[in-house]
Amino acid sequence: MIIKKVIAKAIRDSRGEKTIKVTVKTSRKFKTSSPFGKSTGKYEAKPYSKNLTSDISYINKLDVDNLNKLFQKNDGKTIAQAFLILQDTEKLVKNKIGANSLFALEAGLLKALAYENKKELWEFLTSKNKPAFPRPVGNAIGGGLHGEGIQKKEPDFQEFLFISNGRTFSECVEINELAYNLTGKLLGAWTKNDEGAWLTGKTNEEVLMILDNVRQIIKNEYKKEVDIGVDIASSSFYKDNKYNYKNPAVDLNKKHQILYINELIRRYKLFYVEDPLDENDFTGFKELSKEIKKTGNKCHVVGDDLTTTNPERLKKAIKNKSIDAIIVKPNQIGSLLKVKEVIEIARKNRIKTIISHRSGETKDSTIADLAIGFRCDFIKTGIHGKVRTRKLRRLIEIEKKLR
Ligand code: PEP
Ligand code: MG
Repeated sequence: MIIKKVIAKAIRDSRGEKTIKVTVKTSRKFKTSSPFGKSTGKYEAKPYSKNLTSDISYINKLDVDNLNKLFQKNDGKTIAQAFLILQDTEKLVKNKIGANSLFALEAGLLKALAYENKKELWEFLTSKNKPAFPRPVGNAIGGGLHGEGIQKKEPDFQEFLFISNGRTFSECVEINELAYNLTGKLLGAWTKNDEGAWLTGKTNEEVLMILDNVRQIIKNEYKKEVDIGVDIASSSFYKDNKYNYKNPAVDLNKKHQILYINELIRRYKLFYVEDPLDENDFTGFKELSKEIKKTGNKCHVVGDDLTTTNPERLKKAIKNKSIDAIIVKPNQIGSLLKVKEVIEIARKNRIKTIISHRSGETKDSTIADLAIGFRCDFIKTGIHGKVRTRKLRRLIEIEKKLR
């Protein structure tokens, strides 16, 4: 494979914020753009080395001869060889670009290598493994940092999620859409955030009651199954050792936060709680996991800001028995080698993996290919809006190909 050029430029994400797009040019062009988060975890890698402009300028000045030398050593015929090329690429660009740029560059190189091997990215990554499809985790209602306030109110939790269970991926997508539409009606919602999630001034519990209702309707009238989850994103309202709820106003200490979340899990049969405690609180996550077991409920305790797709933080979470599921956001860490490592460590330790979009997204659907290629258990994205459904449509396209 011969790289003719690598081009980086700034584009706007779904929120109108600037982010990076990288094109790797061989005999064809392979494009990847990075998303951008709003509720970024404290332990995420820096998105850019200095800033977006300096990363763009570095990539545009990259000497492609240096990259092409890597392909002379190693022809990238297998996925293992391709990852060795990424390893060498990382040495070449070390400390020169940040995580957003590294992800876009590495994904572009992998797509180009896949094409050389007459494969698509998901096929190249899958190698001998039988493809498995993730369950979609669909963001239906936004609150917290992702809320925009209705009469200055919003639920404190950041995301209310539907996690459908169908026979096929496309059926799962249909069920999530149905749940989303029913929710809009029952909420009396008329407006959405930039993730396509409904906006409301209701409290967490009022919303959960509606979601529970939707789940029952789907079960009884449509004979389908959907689970409910929440991304509490609790670091965003944790201050001075307290969880500072606004709607309604109440401050909870760690112990009461654990009891409150456990009670919500019991009352609304929650299947999934993401970041229920602060991003530094590995033991709080463990105590909640223990409480859930004690009450005999089953609910995934998911790390996002806690783990930030970082192998070392995942190992710490495993050692502390903090979580049984992890969010994987490639641009939280940048390196696809590390993304792969995180997923492998998780699988070895029976931790479920949820590959995820960011709140600021682009039309890019690379995470859909990664979901199949890395055999992730779930994919979190929105239910409504082009930049969200592109990821879902890509998975439906792959499912059709495999039929
Ligand atoms: C999240 O917290 O799971 C999320 C998608 O938000 P952001 O992209 O704003 O970090
Ligand atoms: Mg999150």
